[in-house]
Amino acid sequence: MTDSFEEWLHQKTHSLSDPSLRRTLHPICHQQGSLIRLNDTSYISFTSNDYLGLSQHEDVLQSYRDGIARWGAGSGGSRVLGGDREVFHILESRLASLTGQESALVFNSGYQANVGIVSALLTEKDVIYADKKIHASILDGARLSKAKLYRFAHHNTTHLKEILTKTRDLYANALIVTESVFSMDGDFCDIQELVHLKEAFQTWLMIDEAHAFGIYGKRYQGRIDCTQWAKSVDVTVGAFGKAVGTCGGFVSGTRLLKEWLIQACRSFLFSTAYCPAIAAATLTSLDILAPGDLQGQLAIRVASFKEQLTLNKIPFLGQSHIIGVVIGDEQEAMDVAQYFQNNGLWVQAIRHPTVAKGEARLRLVITAMHTQDMIDRLITILCSPYVREKIRFIA
Ligand code: PMP
Repeated sequence: MTDSFEEWLHQKTHSLSDPSLRRTLHPICHQQGSLIRLNDTSYISFTSNDYLGLSQHEDVLQSYRDGIARWGAGSGGSRVLGGDREVFHILESRLASLTGQESALVFNSGYQANVGIVSALLTEKDVIYADKKIHASILDGARLSKAKLYRFAHHNTTHLKEILTKTRDLYANALIVTESVFSMDGDFCDIQELVHLKEAFQTWLMIDEAHAFGIYGKRYQGRIDCTQWAKSVDVTVGAFGKAVGTCGGFVSGTRLLKEWLIQACRSFLFSTAYCPAIAAATLTSLDILAPGDLQGQLAIRVASFKEQLTLNKIPFLGQSHIIGVVIGDEQEAMDVAQYFQNNGLWVQAIRHPTVAKGEARLRLVITAMHTQDMIDRLITILCSPYVREKIRFIA
């Protein structure tokens, strides 16, 4: 006799071997700039991926409103079944030219883009070489594709080359996949070296620019330099829920890549199309971030924060605006995050499976909206004896 559904759920959720790995939701009831309110308490938030503050920009909001007035609140169907709108095509042309590619295709989220693209491109005869710290959406796409999956040590192209040398010939098509700015470590992949390996071993190359799009690059298109590498990177993925401040995702590549995804990408085909009003807001966000003022402001804040971390001898991970302070133990990381919250700073602990077991950390995100005073408050708490004593260094 099996348990009832409720009993089964209760057992599953309450018998987690390590309760410090349990996730909880924290509804924000009000937000203004970097200030958030939960229940009746206000905090300065250091967790948001709204790196440039565009989710609250008045022009973006106005485009959203205008978009609703013109297109309605939703798209009403899949892109191939009545859900297609002119505004998606305008956005896609813009994304293609921004990333130096022939075409682009918009998805409801970066997750849907990755999971759908990887599973539409590879089969059980193929092979995927993914960085050890790659995002879950790519791993899920790899699982669905049934291709053989090899993981190379984080950023270790020597390790990747070893695996390629041993295994490449055993499979039909091969895909190397990584992130240009890693979501949890905030570090950069070596695009040049990956292009070199792709060419040497005749693989395809896919780079997820979710955390770089809108922040890096001459035109803020991401870390893939259009003039140098655009034709070598076969699949570029971006997300709008971070620097762009809206939501959704996209892929850019050749016209044929787009054509194939429209035929075969299940997360694109079997889902109600992107919200047209959000597409309109996203276009406005792209206009606002184009001159680079917000990115300049962000760079100043990040540099100031890192300078203070170094001065205070606080070890951290991250070449970018995403900064990891490693605690190690999951429960200790939770306790430290709680300590920040008790002091009015909204900081959360990142734990397994988002990061490896024993590498629990605070993921501190500096945005263009933070003031110097806010950053100083963050440093003060990081330097408090309670927190400092718990910080670990990992290479
Ligand atoms: N790729 C990376 C590297 C990510 O970090 C994330 C989410 N944080 C995604 C894809 C998924 O994007 P979205 O949130 O738009 O689903």
